[in-house]
Amino acid sequence: MPETPQEVLQMIRDENIQIIDLKFIDMPGIWQHCSFYYDQIDESSFVDGVPFDGSSIRGWKAINESDMCMVPDPKTAWIEPFYEEKTLSMVCSIKEPRTGEWYSRDPRSIAAKAIEYLNSTGIGDTAFFGPEAEFFLFNDVRFDQTENKGFYYVDSIEGRWNSGREEAGGNLGYKPRYKEGYFPVAPTDTLQDIRTEMLLTMAKCGVPIEKHHHEVATGGQNELGIRFATLVESADYLMTYKYVIKNVAKKYGLSATFMPKPLFNDNGSGMHTHQSIWKDGQPLFWGEGNYANLSQMALHYIGGLLKHAPALLALTNPSINSYKRLVPGFEAPVNLAYSQGNRSASIRIPLSGPNPKAKRLEFRCPDATCNPYIAFAAMLCAGLDGIKNQIDPGSPLDVDIYDLSPEELSKIPSTPGSLEDALEHLQNDHAFLTDTGVFTEDFIENWISYKLDNEINPMRLRPHPYEFSLYYDV
Ligand code: GLN
Ligand code: MG
Ligand code: MG
Ligand code: MG
Repeated sequence: MPETPQEVLQMIRDENIQIIDLKFIDMPGIWQHCSFYYDQIDESSFVDGVPFDGSSIRGWKAINESDMCMVPDPKTAWIEPFYEEKTLSMVCSIKEPRTGEWYSRDPRSIAAKAIEYLNSTGIGDTAFFGPEAEFFLFNDVRFDQTENKGFYYVDSIEGRWNSGREEAGGNLGYKPRYKEGYFPVAPTDTLQDIRTEMLLTMAKCGVPIEKHHHEVATGGQNELGIRFATLVESADYLMTYKYVIKNVAKKYGLSATFMPKPLFNDNGSGMHTHQSIWKDGQPLFWGEGNYANLSQMALHYIGGLLKHAPALLALTNPSINSYKRLVPGFEAPVNLAYSQGNRSASIRIPLSGPNPKAKRLEFRCPDATCNPYIAFAAMLCAGLDGIKNQIDPGSPLDVDIYDLSPEELSKIPSTPGSLEDALEHLQNDHAFLTDTGVFTEDFIENWISYKLDNEINPMRLRPHPYEFSLYYDV
């Protein structure tokens, strides 16, 4: 795979590529793209960018000047696996054409700024992130998006309906049992070949792959394992991951969803995020002999994550549906605590043996409806705030939090109950993001108002199907 603009241009010539597909991420976290005839891209495209109209992109509308430039990163070049015509794909960051500055609402530029900030603190020079994004495959999902209806229906690949009831009829042999879908082999697991194709396809797009497996929920829940990488690189990989999963699913007549809680009363889909900081090639989270072999710096990083979690979740769990996942009983974190092995804590320290380089923490709250560039940058800011202010994370919680008495539980702070709640926390606690220069006040304000206007208020106006069950016959 090419690394420099010259290598990309050489590849275009050598392989006779006619179409270049440039992708960039919008504010809520979906790739947008535009394809160019090859002669539209030259060396200057990699510096000044390629102009486009930014006024129709979600979350970017407010700017008066709509002309923007997408600047492709040559390190993200790969051949598109889903188009007929041989097409070179590249991921872009966004520049303001008049000033030549990176656009302050461009998530990928914000992620790059987070690394600049890390360097400026002197604490470290590299942050590694490793997201584990779970997802469901469904046979059929139907919406009626017309005003005043809002009907939807999910037909699960393994025969569970959204109601959580078992579907009657059909061949029920080898059907995954409720919450026991995790590791059984075929024929119970029917998705092996699809996951393999997904994994191998993302490898062709330059994503370092590790493994794949079915997940705990029935209904076709899965996870593919990709290797950790530096912050921006890891977010790029995650976007490719979601893109490949959705497009391979489509090929099989299925649809993939990363929504955190599509099925009532079964496990949801998280995006646990492993993270660590390094300096001069040395890992900084290792502290031999301490609790979980964690350094003091790692504990302070944890302190920062836990302190700011209520606000942070507005960025790492930014959907209304995110908070239907963060409930007890489904391996999703509910309480803000850390622990060595305990999967009910929102921060887990994975067993990593005697290798200092593998020492990391796993923040279990995030889900894949987040914009990974924003979420990773925000988590890093929270952790660095913890290090700078030596925030004590308190004692670890090594019991199953789900088993604690209400009295014991009440002492542990919990995750916000709703997106609205998290946004309110973000409103009141965002200096840890803006004081760094990574996020602007404008970004935070825009994020909050976007979520209120486009998600919370429209949802509030629509009668929910369950309201009919509760109130229809009252
Ligand atoms: N699905 C769980 C969650 O919501 C995680 C389960 C797992 O990885 N074993 O976080
Ligand atoms: Mg996993
Ligand atoms: Mg998992
Ligand atoms: Mg995990």
